[in-house]
Amino acid sequence: MDAVIMDGRRLRAGSVAAVRNILHPVTLARRVMERTDHVLLVGEGANLFAAEVGIEATPEEELLVGRELERWRQLRKDPRFKARVIFEPPSAPPSWDVPGDTVGAVAIDGEGRTAAATSTGGTPKKRMGRVGDSPLVGAGAYADDRVGAVSATGWGEPIILACLSRRVLEFTERGMGPSEASLAALEEMLVRFEGRGGVIMVSPDGSITASFNTPRMAYALWRTEEPEVLALIDEPTLP
Ligand code: ASP
Repeated sequence: MDAVIMDGRRLRAGSVAAVRNILHPVTLARRVMERTDHVLLVGEGANLFAAEVGIEATPEEELLVGRELERWRQLRKDPRFKARVIFEPPSAPPSWDVPGDTVGAVAIDGEGRTAAATSTGGTPKKRMGRVGDSPLVGAGAYADDRVGAVSATGWGEPIILACLSRRVLEFTERGMGPSEASLAALEEMLVRFEGRGGVIMVSPDGSITASFNTPRMAYALWRTEEPEVLALIDEPTLP
């Protein structure tokens, strides 16, 4: 698992990559932010740190979801599968039922404090040791109270090269609105890096946007004054 968290007020972040048996990798990333002088811990070192801060290892069986495991088993047998295709519009009915687990979150409180976090198991059939965008500050997430907080998903390699989350905020710094900035950064990633993805963003004024150029993205929105969580799948814009 890979994960990152960033505090937009203090401009501090913590992240972990290639950790195993961790039920809540964002919590571990948060401990890195709060209890070390580092930003990113990887592999065995990150697992040793988890033990040090009292985060117990969760057995593999408890972390596996039956349906996703079955999808992965099917995919494993198919030598034609490439990670990039799951983020592209299918040219024919998709022949793969793809496992997926990336979760991102952005938040703002009543005092304008922003935060962003992203957690993932990575792309299906990834090579051992491969780390994607998710735990990388600026790629998988970024938060800065002055401009907003962003979390990204999609094909990790182009997201790293495009520094997608920071790029969205850079476009807003140049005067674009959040939705325009998100779409511009995604379009740039497609044109220059042949990558597709999606971003969620919260702005300092509390407005929220979700944008993607992948075939689909599911997202949800919750405001403290509203009792209901608004969940959306594949809606191109938030109502
Ligand atoms: N961005 C993730 C990665 O490349 C995958 C995803 O968001 O689905 O590791």
